[in-house]
Amino acid sequence: MSISTLQDMFVHGLKDMHYAEAKILKTLPILINSAEYEELRHALTRHRSETEKQISRLREVFSLMGEEPAAERCEAIEGILAEGDSLIGETSGTPVADIGIIAAGQAVEHYEIVRYRSLVRWAEALGLVEARILLQESLAEELVADEKLTALASLADPQANMVAEDNDQDPLMDDRDFEEADLIEDEEGGRDGSETRSSPGWPGGRGPGGLA
Ligand code: ZN
Ligand code: FE
Ligand code: FE
Ligand code: FE
Repeated sequence: MSISTLQDMFVHGLKDMHYAEAKILKTLPILINSAEYEELRHALTRHRSETEKQISRLREVFSLMGEEPAAERCEAIEGILAEGDSLIGETSGTPVADIGIIAAGQAVEHYEIVRYRSLVRWAEALGLVEARILLQESLAEELVADEKLTALASLADPQANMVAEDNDQDPLMDDRDFEEADLIEDEEGGRDGSETRSSPGWPGGRGPGGLA
């Protein structure tokens, strides 16, 4: 389908996400079965039922739009899941297996967060109040899932450092890298897009925050 309006973009985004969530739902049992740490299995299991709800919400948004629920192959999620699958295959049975699962899971969550943020913004710009609320609920679940994985990653980190030291390797990230990451984050300012930035590139002051 050709995309020439914000509404087209929104519907296309819904189809993309509908495809992605269905694919994620199929993949989560593989992660759950591969995870060693009980709390990680629980977190993934909880997120699997949330994913089912997220698919229902997307179908509800389609019907609010007067559209049949449809899906469109999303190359981005295909790539993220394929990469995660090969990482999990390579680390299976090693001390870093769960760390691989967490990292693969977080790549998925970050993809979903950015997609839902766009959909929420577009629903708002299109005046689709109910759709925005539904999409916001799914966004909130993705953010919590990501935070949970971050917390689990910090529990797992000492083990990873031990393995890195044993192999006489540099840690993946030294203090300098962390400082650089902090600086970049500071420069970005508001993370929720609430800060409108003056961007001379947008004609008439139109930008991602002012599409309508
Ligand atoms: Zn697409
Ligand atoms: Fe999801
Ligand atoms: Fe896509
Ligand atoms: Fe998710």
